[in-house]
Amino acid sequence: MQRIDHTLPWGSLGSERTLSVFRFGPAADGDGSGVRKAYIQASLHADELPGMRVAWALKQRLRELEAAGQLLGTIELVPVANPIGLAQAVYATQQGRFELHSGANFNREFSDLAALVGERVAPQLSSDAAANTALIRQAMRQALADLPAAGSELAGLRRLLLTHACDADVVLDLHCDFESILLLYTLPALWPQVEPLARRLGAGMSLLAEDSGGGSFDEACSLPWSRLAQRFADKPIDMACVASTLELRGMLDTDPAQAAADAEAILAYLAEQGLLAGQWPALAAGAAPARPFAGADYLSAPHAGVVSFLKPLGAVLKAGEAVFEVVDPVNDRVSVVCCHTDGVLYARERLRYALPGLWLAKVAGETTLRHGRLLSD
Ligand SMILES: [Zn+2]
Repeated sequence: MQRIDHTLPWGSLGSERTLSVFRFGPAADGDGSGVRKAYIQASLHADELPGMRVAWALKQRLRELEAAGQLLGTIELVPVANPIGLAQAVYATQQGRFELHSGANFNREFSDLAALVGERVAPQLSSDAAANTALIRQAMRQALADLPAAGSELAGLRRLLLTHACDADVVLDLHCDFESILLLYTLPALWPQVEPLARRLGAGMSLLAEDSGGGSFDEACSLPWSRLAQRFADKPIDMACVASTLELRGMLDTDPAQAAADAEAILAYLAEQGLLAGQWPALAAGAAPARPFAGADYLSAPHAGVVSFLKPLGAVLKAGEAVFEVVDPVNDRVSVVCCHTDGVLYARERLRYALPGLWLAKVAGETTLRHGRLLSD
């Protein structure tokens, strides 16, 4: 195991932050050497800690597997992907989703690599798909290195994370929701390759979108390949990066046994992807469920009040079923909020007070309800 420490730029005078990357296995250079690479990061939204706990379980196991000679590919692990957010607390409450300095969501506005490398690779693309993959990866690394100096600590963090991930064959970004079933996000084109991971993790749902908007990390890694393939349609360009965001249940779900089981599921998937040798559990029969992200029904309250949920996580609902009630005890106003679609109740807000405009429950349906930018902030 190699530990790589990066100092973030723009540390306040007298204090600096460090991003630590742990690298296991043989070196992969992304140039067609045949050594595959996986990149796994946790807690980019810094208060989403189940991923960090799973990452630590992975770190322990990867050390063992490396000592046993079972690593066939390179695995880079970043268990603390957001040291900025992790340290943010206001009046004893952690704020890990938005940077206090700028208000920016930590998982948005990653660089558009397709735009950065398009002109660079255009003259050199050939009819050899593997050579194109190596060329594009090299161009991505170089384009990020050539950017002007990062203008903030957050910009520097985003660039470092993307630099480590951009030439990986597999990218897993470990998050969680407030209260949630286990759920994955990926591109529709990548679902056949992500579905075995969803099955191994026992995911209750996966949500698929070609472009959710906002420049989230997993899409910053995977979307450039489909964008370049569209732009240079006369050249073979593979979807060379299988990227997924994993919602590892809810914020409170850091149970050690569950984390160990999730880590084993991820390792078995990495073995399937050619990164690990050895004997791993066979993939269970059946298929993991997936639905369009555009079919997710975000339910919010019509007025302020105390929220009581009427359905448990994972409930299978019919359109029109009551999901939660909101009570205003001053005016005796009681509203029951129902879902607009048949679907699975996959996430609930942690707060029990209705705030204007904020979702309180999410239901995964099959028909398109939303257009444009799908990600909320
Ligand atoms: Zn998150």
